[in-house]
Amino acid sequence: MLDTTQRFHRPALARIAAAAVLFGGISLASGCKMPFHLHREAKVAAPPKPVAPQQTAMLPLDLTKVQPNEAGMVPILEYHDLVASSKVSGYQYPAASFRQDMEWLYAHNYRPISLSEYVQGRIDCPAGMSPVILTFDDALKGQFYYTPDGKIDPNCAVGILDDMHARHPDWPQKGTFFVLTNGDPKLPPAFYQAQYAQGKMDYLVKEGYEIGNHTIHHLAGIRHWPDTKVEAEFAGAVKNIQAMLPNYDVNTLALPFGVYPKNQKLVISGESDGMKYHNLCALLAGAAPVRSPMDKDFNPYRMQRIIPGTEKFAMKYWLDWLEKNKSEKFVSDGDPNTFTVNTISSGKLDPAKIAKNHFHLRTYNGTTVASSK
Ligand SMILES: [Zn+2]
Repeated sequence: MLDTTQRFHRPALARIAAAAVLFGGISLASGCKMPFHLHREAKVAAPPKPVAPQQTAMLPLDLTKVQPNEAGMVPILEYHDLVASSKVSGYQYPAASFRQDMEWLYAHNYRPISLSEYVQGRIDCPAGMSPVILTFDDALKGQFYYTPDGKIDPNCAVGILDDMHARHPDWPQKGTFFVLTNGDPKLPPAFYQAQYAQGKMDYLVKEGYEIGNHTIHHLAGIRHWPDTKVEAEFAGAVKNIQAMLPNYDVNTLALPFGVYPKNQKLVISGESDGMKYHNLCALLAGAAPVRSPMDKDFNPYRMQRIIPGTEKFAMKYWLDWLEKNKSEKFVSDGDPNTFTVNTISSGKLDPAKIAKNHFHLRTYNGTTVASSK
């Protein structure tokens, strides 16, 4: 059995620190309540492909009741393997804790949404609820596993998410799996069961989950590679996914270890051996919530994620922070075509970007939000 430890495992704090370094320093300046400089975003991005123009009228809404805040921040959670053990170890996380995380999110009015839709500004989340984006890297065994009797293991991520949906029908089956697919003979097959790999990919897409690009070889050395090799890595992963899912639009990328190639534009688009790719976003490995997609400083090619755990800047820290700082938490107005914000936070959004995407911008008096507990 191949030991992939070397390639995947890296202490959580080291990854958080590495991600922070990318953004020019992690120190939380004294007197600065906002941690935004944790993810200061470089202006290298081209705009994402627009979704189909929307001209729908705004939905009626009792704003004082719902108090939407669509200039708020959204957590993108980054999971790896789920295990039966109760110990958090490297990239392994207890399945029981994952189940608790999902229940906690549900109880705190989070609902999962699609990553690819989010980066295009289309937020399909019920009024008064807050979006959360679930991501799973490396196509590991604990993410999607069939038991010997051919059933989905109730303790793998897909089993737990399907169960969440069955018990809470307003919890949709949404999440993105950044897979490694049979392109590197030294790596295990996708989700560690070669005979079920195709069926699993089909199932994920059919149920509403998304499949994303995580490269072929999962190597941090990409930072030193020439452009042609980088493009071959990104395009090759798309080719491998499409070998299992013909014509599937692979348009999201998670960079292994959050490491960029020297030529950062190659995360957006490129071509190799006749295969073109275009990514709507690129995800890093840590360590903060992301801005609203219509925020003036939102950069879809520098999206941070949050790993599970209780360390500083890990999941518990940020989810608690968003509960304590309600005015920073994204709260949906329930209308994917409209961005609704209170007057206090309306300045964070880019009206031109909203207009360009054919969305509406709606503001209301923010004092109710500012003074709420
Ligand atoms: Zn990975």
